[in-house]
Amino acid sequence: MRTVPDAQNAVLAAAKDMLRKGLVEGTAGNISARMDDGNVCITPSSVDYEAMTLDDLMIIDPGGEVLEGHRSPSSEKLLHLACYKAFDDVGSVIHSHPVYATMFAIAHQAIPPCIDEFSIYVGGEVRVTDYAESGSGGVGENAVAALEGRGAALLANHGMVAVGPNPAKALHITALVERSAQIVWGAMALGQIHELPAEVNKKFKSIYEFLRENPM
Ligand SMILES: [Zn+2]
Repeated sequence: MRTVPDAQNAVLAAAKDMLRKGLVEGTAGNISARMDDGNVCITPSSVDYEAMTLDDLMIIDPGGEVLEGHRSPSSEKLLHLACYKAFDDVGSVIHSHPVYATMFAIAHQAIPPCIDEFSIYVGGEVRVTDYAESGSGGVGENAVAALEGRGAALLANHGMVAVGPNPAKALHITALVERSAQIVWGAMALGQIHELPAEVNKKFKSIYEFLRENPM
């Protein structure tokens, strides 16, 4: 089971960084990390990232019960818990609403792996989940299906979810997918897009799988 040392500080640092990078605004999106005891540290709902402190973070058990904290855990806690339950090698989950990736999520179009090294960090095309209402258990179920062998998935008509060994890596994947979505969207506006040769993506995917098992 992948866990994150000093999970609270790692979650808070990534939350501030996510805001700075423009991947969310206000109180949208959420970040969590699996702790050494198997419980999960998660950002609260309705607290501005700029003002957020360690004291605002919540600790919940794998069933979603609040163990520590005086706020409400993120309204998408079921999404986070579903990812930890399904993927033993995931230490952190980030849910965000970045503009370009969400455009693909609304169009129900996967983000194709067109840029060198994209698949090293993401594992291949970023799939779109089936639609489920925000906050419902269906969001997590659908996300787990779309995340198989991938570092990120698009939540239909909603946003993105990224998984990684720790919050910093999951945030890196979030930013990379958003940047790729912007580039691919621009390339589509220019005309036909060209994916990387299949054998190149296959090679990159195997590197992704190795790094997922052996995070650096
Ligand atoms: Zn959301």
